[in-house]
Amino acid sequence: MNASSKFVYLFGSGRTEGGAEMKNLLGGKGANLAEMCRLGIAVPSGFTISTEACTGFTQRGRAPVLALIEAQVLQGVAFVEAEMGRKFGDATNPLLLSVRSGARASMPGMMDTILNLGLNDQAVLGLAAKANNERFAWDSYRRFIQMYGDVVMNLKPSSKEEHDPFEVIIDMLKEKRGVQLDTDLDANDLQELVQRFKSLIRARTGHDFPTDPWEQLWGAIWAVFESWNNDRARVYRELNDIPQSWGTAVNVQAMVFGNLGDHSATGVAFSRDAGTGEDLFNGEFLVNAQGEDVVAGVRTPQQVSLLGSRRWAELAQVNEAERAHSFPSLEELMPEIYAQLLHFETTLENHFKDMQDIEFTIQEGKLWMLQTRNGKRTGAAMVRIAMEMLQQGMIDEKTALQRVSPDRLNELLHPIFDPKALASAVPIARGLPASPGAATGQIVFFADEAEAWAKKGKAVILVRQETSPEDLRGMSVAKGILTARGGMTSHAAVVARGMGKCCVSGAGAVHVDMKARTMTIGAVDYAEGDWISLNGSTGEVFEGKLTTKEAELSGDFGRLMALSDRYKRLEVRTNADTPEEARMAHSFGATGIGLCRTEHMFFEGERIVAVREMILADDEAGRRKALAKLLPIQRGDFEGLFAAMNGLPVTIRLLDPPLHEFVPQDDASQRVMAADMRVSLGKIKMRVDELHEFNPMMGHRGCRLGISYPEITEMQARAILEAGLNMRARGIDVKAEIMVPLVGTAREFNLQAAVIRRVADAVFAERGEVLPYLLGTMIETPRAALVADSIGKVAEFFSFGTNDLTQMTLGFSRDDAAKFLPDYLKNGVYDQDPFRSIDQSGVGMLVQMAVQKGRSVRPHIEVGVCGEHGGDPASVAFFHRAGLDYVSCSPYRVPIARLAAAQAAIAV
Ligand code: PEP
Ligand code: MG
Repeated sequence: MNASSKFVYLFGSGRTEGGAEMKNLLGGKGANLAEMCRLGIAVPSGFTISTEACTGFTQRGRAPVLALIEAQVLQGVAFVEAEMGRKFGDATNPLLLSVRSGARASMPGMMDTILNLGLNDQAVLGLAAKANNERFAWDSYRRFIQMYGDVVMNLKPSSKEEHDPFEVIIDMLKEKRGVQLDTDLDANDLQELVQRFKSLIRARTGHDFPTDPWEQLWGAIWAVFESWNNDRARVYRELNDIPQSWGTAVNVQAMVFGNLGDHSATGVAFSRDAGTGEDLFNGEFLVNAQGEDVVAGVRTPQQVSLLGSRRWAELAQVNEAERAHSFPSLEELMPEIYAQLLHFETTLENHFKDMQDIEFTIQEGKLWMLQTRNGKRTGAAMVRIAMEMLQQGMIDEKTALQRVSPDRLNELLHPIFDPKALASAVPIARGLPASPGAATGQIVFFADEAEAWAKKGKAVILVRQETSPEDLRGMSVAKGILTARGGMTSHAAVVARGMGKCCVSGAGAVHVDMKARTMTIGAVDYAEGDWISLNGSTGEVFEGKLTTKEAELSGDFGRLMALSDRYKRLEVRTNADTPEEARMAHSFGATGIGLCRTEHMFFEGERIVAVREMILADDEAGRRKALAKLLPIQRGDFEGLFAAMNGLPVTIRLLDPPLHEFVPQDDASQRVMAADMRVSLGKIKMRVDELHEFNPMMGHRGCRLGISYPEITEMQARAILEAGLNMRARGIDVKAEIMVPLVGTAREFNLQAAVIRRVADAVFAERGEVLPYLLGTMIETPRAALVADSIGKVAEFFSFGTNDLTQMTLGFSRDDAAKFLPDYLKNGVYDQDPFRSIDQSGVGMLVQMAVQKGRSVRPHIEVGVCGEHGGDPASVAFFHRAGLDYVSCSPYRVPIARLAAAQAAIAV
C-alpha cells in the first residue's frame, strides 16, 4: 500500500473503472456492479473502495488509511453527484448514499450495510420537497438513524434476550397511536421517532447523532471495514474455508428508493431455482419497501412471475381470486418492468454463464439493478444447473464438471423420506420449500441451544420466528430449520440452501413463543424436545419421526457421474466390510473394494466366542482349534464380498488390531465372558493383563500378529482362497488381492508372504485348480515408504494406509489428536485437520517417494490409497498428481471421489 496506489474505482453510466475480473480487489459485489455498467444495465452510480484499503485498515488502523484514500473518496462522491445531478449534504437537492460491504466470496448478511446516508435535519426537508412525499422522507431518516445507531454507534443488542432499542421505541409509539403496522405511522409520528432516536443515542453514547454527512460517510466506511472481523463473519469464514486475510471492499452508491409509493418496489430474484435447479426465472418483491424488508422476512413477499405466484398460492393455500387481488405477481402488476427485468436477467445469465442471484429496486416506474452474483444453491440444484447448462450449450463438459463442489454431493446421498411413510403422514403445517431434504429431530428454539444439544449427539430442528446471521452456528448443526415467517429469499432460506440444509420457511400456521419455548399449531402445543419432521422439498411439517430410505443416483446426478468417469484417470474403490456395504458402494459406482477390514467381521454372534477362545488358548494347538471354527464363517464372509463385486478387484486385509480389542476390559463383562466360556474369571483377568500395552497403536498389531501367530494368517489366507474358488465355481469372476498390514521391512512382508503362498499351494493342490491372486502390502509406516523399493521387489501392490501413515509421520495419535488439533488449526500450525485432508508437504512427500521407489523396481505395481483421505476432494487431487491408480473410500464418498478425480484430471 502506498500513496500513489489506486483505492477507489468508479462505476456509472459515464465512466466505469472496474470489471468482473477484478473480484480480488473490488469484492464480488463491486466487480459485478462495474460489469453490469459495462453491459449497459441500469445501475445507480457509485464507487468501490478496494479490499486493500480494508486489509490496510485491519493492520494499521484508521489514520494512515484515511491519509491514503481521502482524496480519492472525495473525487468518488463528486463523480456520483455529477452523474445523479444531486449534491451530497445539500439542503434542497440532497444526494443520499448506500454504504455496503462486499468481499471476494459472498458472505450473505454477515457484514454491515448502511442506507439513506447523508440525511440530516435540513436534507430531510429537501428530500421531502423533491419527492413531494413528507412521510417517505421522514421514514428514510428514521431508518437511517436506526441503522447508523445499530451499526456505527454500537446500539445493536448484544444478547438474544435484549430487544433492539429502536424497535422498542417504535413499538411504544405504535401502542400509543393504537396502530399495528409501521406503515400506519404518519409523517408526524416518524418525525417524533427521529427525535426519540436521537435522544436515545445521546443518552446511550454521550454523543450526538452526527449531522455532518461527511462524518456520517467516514463512520460508515470504518464500520464496514470493522464488520469484516465481527464474530459472525469470522464464523462464516471458518465454516466456508474463506481466508481471514482477504478483507472486504466497500461500495458507496447513490440511493434509489423502493419505498416511494405504489409504483416503487424492491426485490430479489434468481435466474434458475436455487433449491431444485429448475430453469425458471423466480423471485420475490415487496411494493413500497426497502431491500432489508424482503430479506428480514417480516412482510409476506409477492412472486415475480405469474407461474411462480400460482405455485406459491397453491403451497400457501391461497385461492386464485385472493392471490390475484392481494398478492399479484410483478408480471401482472408492472408488465413492462417485468419484461425489462427478464431481459436483464437473461443478459446477465448469458454473460456470466451461471445462475444469477439479483437484487433490484423499482423507483417510481424505473428499474434499477443493485447486485448480481452467481447464486448460492443446494447440491441438487448445483448438479441440475450444471447438466442443463451443458445440454443447453452454455458451458462445455469441463466447466460443467467444475461447477459442482464434490462435497455438496453429500446432500444428494442423504436419505429421503420413505414414500410409503409420506403417503400415510398428515402434515401439521405447511410452509415454503426453502431448501430440500428430509429432516427429523427435536425442537429447539435458540441457536446456542441447538449447538449444545447437537454436541450431546441429539438431532435437532431449529424452530424460529425468523433467523438472523447470529443463528449461523446453530443452523449449521441442526438437521433442519423451520421458520414461521419469511419467504424463499429470507435469511433462513438463503443460508440453508448455501449449507445444503433442509429448511421450511414462512410456515404461517406456526406460532412461536420464544419465552415459553413452545410452538403452537392450531390447538396443539409443541414443546422444546418434541420430535418433528420436515420435508424441505414440499414445505410440509409433520409430527414425530418419519422413516427414511436411501437415495439413488439417477437423472442429472447419474449423468454427472457418467461424465466424471469419462474424464477421471483414478479408479475409485470402496472400503467395505460387508456384502451390503459393497453392493451400495457398487451402486454408487465403486470399481472394486480397496480395503476390507477383516477384524470387523469378528465381533458378531458366534464369531466373537471363537475369537476369544483363540485369544485365551494356551498354545498353538488350542489356537488352531478355535481358528478351525472361524474358518467356515470367514469363508462365507468373503464369498459374499466376491459375489457383490463380481469381476472387480477385492482387497482383503489380514487381521490388524491388537488382540486386546476383542476382550472386555471391565469387570462385569469379564464375568459374563467367563461364564459363557466356562473358564475362571482369574484366567480372563490374567490374559487381559498380559495383553495390556502402553501404546497399543504401536504395539502388537498388524503383521506383527501374523508373525507371532502364523496360524491366524493361514486361516485367513485359506478362507480367502477357498471362497474365491467356491464363487468361481458358481460363475463369479473373482479378483482377489491379499494385503498384509503395517509392514516396515521387506523381511516382515516375506515372512507373511511365505505363509500365504504355502497355504495357497496346499489349497490349490487339494482342489486341483488354481486361483490367480495378487499379494501386496499396505504402506502405513514411514519406514515402509522409505524402503518402498526393497518392499516393491516382493509385494505386488501398495495400498497407502494414510491414517496410520499420518499418525506415525506427524507423531499425532489418531485417538488423542482431537484434544489439541483445534488449537493447532487456530494457530495455523496446519491449515486443515491432517487426518481429514492429507498433509501434502509432509505425509504426501512420503507417498510420492514410495510410488516412485515402487515403480523403479516394479514398473506396473498397482498403487492405491485406503485411508480416510481417499474420500477427501483435495487429497484425491493430490493422489491424482502423485500418479496413484486408485483411491478407496467409504461407500457414501464414492460419488464425491469420482467427481473429485475428474476435476483433478481436468486441472492438470
Ligand atoms: C490406514 O491406516 O490408513 C488404514 C486404512 O488402516 P486402518 O484405518 O484400519 O488402521
Ligand atoms: Mg492402518
